[in-house]
Amino acid sequence: MQKILVVATFNPHKLGEIRAILPALPFALKALSEFSGACPPDEDGATLEENAVKKALAAARFTGLCALADDTGLEVDALDGGPGVWSARYAGEKASPAENNARLLSALEGLPPEKRLARFTCVMALSSPSGVVKISRGILEGRITGATRGVKGFGYDPLFEVGGGPVTLAEFSEEEKNLVSHRAQALKVLLPELLRFVASF
Ligand code: IMP
Repeated sequence: MQKILVVATFNPHKLGEIRAILPALPFALKALSEFSGACPPDEDGATLEENAVKKALAAARFTGLCALADDTGLEVDALDGGPGVWSARYAGEKASPAENNARLLSALEGLPPEKRLARFTCVMALSSPSGVVKISRGILEGRITGATRGVKGFGYDPLFEVGGGPVTLAEFSEEEKNLVSHRAQALKVLLPELLRFVASF
């Protein structure tokens, strides 16, 4: 029977990126959302690590399979590292990406480019069915623009200029984002463990 790695997400953009980043694998990837009765856990941890581990453990427990989870935060220097772990709920509990982006633009209004430095931090957690956990981290440095630019990617991508600019993540092609992204870096570090886990559990 073919082995399966569960990707603990209900976000089709994240799943698509993870699928595209990972090389050809000797097992199948299946999103948690494809398992009947599965529901997204509350992301109520105080850190990205806590949330990523919580999501991976819950998915592994629910499916009885190895599970991979990612928790990502946008950390803006001028906001003392915020919204960080609150990134999904920056403009409110059920905020849309457009509402989060609008709140970020208004929080940074009037700040010059040199005061708009930010980074995406992605924490990946991998859990075995019995709850053995490994984590990795990927960081992408950049700057928040003064207005959204680009239509690709998701979330805060249209406001995030990579490195010294001038291109936002939403102007990158999917391939370009997946070469440099916080998610790609975290997955690259975790890949050897991922292969070992799915082969042995
Ligand atoms: P979470 O990791 O799904 O909890 O995401 C936290 C917040 O960051 C959400 O608002 C996402 O839309 C946003 N986010 C996560 N990953 C990315 C990314 O790669 N680019 C832009 N925004 C992202």
